[in-house]
Amino acid sequence: MSQDSPIFKTATELSADLTAGKISSVELTQAMIERVETVDEKVHAFLHLDKEDALAQAKASDERRSTGECLSPLDGIPVGLKDVISVKDQPLTAASKILENYRSPYDATVTVKLKQAGAVVAGRLNLDEFAMGSSTENSAYGPTRNPWDLERVPGGSSGGSSAAVAAREVPLSLGSDTGGSIRQPASLCGVVGMKPTYGMVSRYGLAAFASSLDQIGPFSTTVEDTALLLETISGHDPLDSTSFPKEIPSYSAELKKPAQAGVIGLPKEFFGPGMDDEVRAKVEQSIEHYRSLGYQTKEVSLPSTDLSIPVYYVIATAEASSNLARYDGIRYTSRSNRAQNAIDVYAKSRGEGFGAEVKRRCLLGAYGLSSGYYDAYYLRAQKARTLIRQDFERVFKEVDAVLTPTAPTPAFKFGEKSEDPISMYLSDIFTISTNLAGLPGISVPCGFTQSGLPVGMQLIGQAFEESSLLNIAHAYDRDHLYGRQAPNL
Ligand code: GLN
Repeated sequence: MSQDSPIFKTATELSADLTAGKISSVELTQAMIERVETVDEKVHAFLHLDKEDALAQAKASDERRSTGECLSPLDGIPVGLKDVISVKDQPLTAASKILENYRSPYDATVTVKLKQAGAVVAGRLNLDEFAMGSSTENSAYGPTRNPWDLERVPGGSSGGSSAAVAAREVPLSLGSDTGGSIRQPASLCGVVGMKPTYGMVSRYGLAAFASSLDQIGPFSTTVEDTALLLETISGHDPLDSTSFPKEIPSYSAELKKPAQAGVIGLPKEFFGPGMDDEVRAKVEQSIEHYRSLGYQTKEVSLPSTDLSIPVYYVIATAEASSNLARYDGIRYTSRSNRAQNAIDVYAKSRGEGFGAEVKRRCLLGAYGLSSGYYDAYYLRAQKARTLIRQDFERVFKEVDAVLTPTAPTPAFKFGEKSEDPISMYLSDIFTISTNLAGLPGISVPCGFTQSGLPVGMQLIGQAFEESSLLNIAHAYDRDHLYGRQAPNL
């Protein structure tokens, strides 16, 4: 495929080409569909693609343009959605058998915003069932493969969203991040992935996993594109009571302003043993780059980091057990046909519909919330969560952003961690504390290992300071653009 093909362009470049009349949205969408048809057999990022619907949206965009109307820079540009984000009349499976035949009766708020911006909302992207996992191996519809090495996982849970962008099947996608599910797969697939501050992006219409942690966020090949997509989906929504009333600046315009080099904190707890040597080397090179740009770096301490995985697995499972109670075989599809009575409908529908990891989480969560254990587990975890948040508050008095690796290793092989839940849970060791503290975090590609696997670094910012975080991320990204390198497929 020629490097001039629109599939290799960023959303920002495509937007300019659409404006200049060099390409139409129908041509672009057609090129995307052809790309999906050629590579997705190998990658399996898509669970569903409604081509007719995508082309109809593209046609509507072209018609708007022909009358001089353009809704936003994203008008006519395809965006794929993780299959937990509702699009009216499209399937939503959450990669679970229990929602196999479900179709969304309404649009999520992010979907409404994308449609209002004129984007072509196209494709349902694979994930770990109900966003529980770090490899997409927990999808009931088969795993997604890493476009850089098809023998390896793309990360998870938003592995379809990261792989679809890395494989150049879509220029942009959305995922959700509860403990790292945008940033970790972005890192493993060599693209940019951002989890915004808790409260920045409405979750109305997102299939909930752990409501005090879930955030929707963008995937793209550059930080510049991330800014564009983030400003489109952010903002207060009365339909999500946790969404925060805040003016959203134009992040992409802010990126163009000259930014002052600030101070970057390097938390010593994140650079200890257990990290792959090549990941360490690449992250250290990125730190050097920031120094060369005039940034100061400073060792900082986040002493409660060790608590983050256990705290997360108490809180996230507790909330999941409550959120997933709604999938009962009564209100949604997939009712067991072996049920003999009402209790059976619940037990058998859930027993047949959920996979092993989802069952494990529901059981753990219900246990942690049960009478007699609540104080020992849930309440204690909430207190420890406060300590994690306070660590960051202290550190952000001295620094503008915190830099860490995104994941301890590059993409791992299928089956390598799936038999051992704890080793899988440790894939998120660097990302989880950000969710517990409610902060924004972004993974930016920072190079490749000797064997050609992408590596990502994570930058964590202060709550609602997306603009500053994107500026810092962009300062590195524009000098390297590792996310623009495409795998051979
Ligand atoms: N991998 C983590 C988990 O399995 C995080 C998932 C997520 O962010 N949705 O819970």
